[in-house]
Amino acid sequence: PFEVLVIGGGPAGAAAAIYAARKGIRTGVAAERFGGQVLDTMAIENFISVPYTEGPKFAVAMEQHVREYDVDIMNLQQATKLIPASEPGGLVEVQLANGASLKSRSVVLATGARWRQMGVPGEEEYRNKGVAYCPHCDGPLYKGKDVAVIGGGNSGVEAAIDLAGIVRHVTLVEFDSQLRADEVLQRKLRSLPNVTIIVSAQSTEVQGDGKRVTALVYQDREGGDSHRIELDGIFVQIGLLPNTDWLKGDLALSPRGEIVIDERGATSMPGVFAAGDATTVPYKQIVIAMGAGSTAALSAFDHLIRTPAP
Ligand code: FAD
Repeated sequence: PFEVLVIGGGPAGAAAAIYAARKGIRTGVAAERFGGQVLDTMAIENFISVPYTEGPKFAVAMEQHVREYDVDIMNLQQATKLIPASEPGGLVEVQLANGASLKSRSVVLATGARWRQMGVPGEEEYRNKGVAYCPHCDGPLYKGKDVAVIGGGNSGVEAAIDLAGIVRHVTLVEFDSQLRADEVLQRKLRSLPNVTIIVSAQSTEVQGDGKRVTALVYQDREGGDSHRIELDGIFVQIGLLPNTDWLKGDLALSPRGEIVIDERGATSMPGVFAAGDATTVPYKQIVIAMGAGSTAALSAFDHLIRTPAP
């Protein structure tokens, strides 16, 4: 069995593995896709001390760093069930889709999240070529340009306010007949001179010139007619879905499905810690996920030295 078993190989999982391995304890990482969301990212310009890198390159560097240590990396493995230890200090079990099961005295869950997509033609084709999901990451790439934000909840309205300070013009597109964001955010949004708000609008297509996005097409849900907005970028803000379906019923999750953690990364199950985008951490970013992964691994180590094996 492992002493620390990390589930997930994104920034949070990689950091947790390195911090655990550096304590000289038996460490394993099981990940569906080592690298995580970073693999789908182009430019990364906010990893402090690295002014510019690209996702795939960053993912390779993360894996190489983990491989500097004696860590058992099990790539292409999907965890399907978490079973608590039968007694304090005992072994927590993680079952895998391939039928195998891994046991460990402590577990760090770092399964990340995925952005909900609009599911319209052109969205996939122009992902990272005008279709973006992370305003903190990609906002500055649209300096002086025209963009749309899809979604009028808190994250969409926050994104629109954020982007309005960088880009030339923001069109906020909401499916419902009204915005769902907090009133204070809506008031702030409406006070901005370079923002247009469109409600009752169903986005139907992302158009481009083969290289980059050129327009968004939406249908007016009241009148029924189609409209086309010429723009350079589309930020989709219709929800971040944590990869925690497999934990439902076994671990305390927030109403959004995020793993509830305390400031040490502890979850509701003894010996099980969590970090990164899969958790209730307020901001979802690489440096934040790495910090949280390190915290979770140190907490797992602390748990091991305080809890004798039965
Ligand atoms: P993830 O990166 O999501 O990794 C999760 C890991 O868990 C993966 O290895 C996955 O395969 C695995 N996994 C999931 N479910 C299971 C399971 N059941 N069993 C086993 N393994 C599982 N952040 C920035 O700071 N700067 C940026 O420029 C930036 N740009 C971004 C651009 C895009 C397009 C996207 C999508 C995100 C961007 N982000 C950026 C956000 C950043 O990528 C995330 O905050 C970060 O990757 C979160 O790390 P994580 O380890 O928590 O999760």
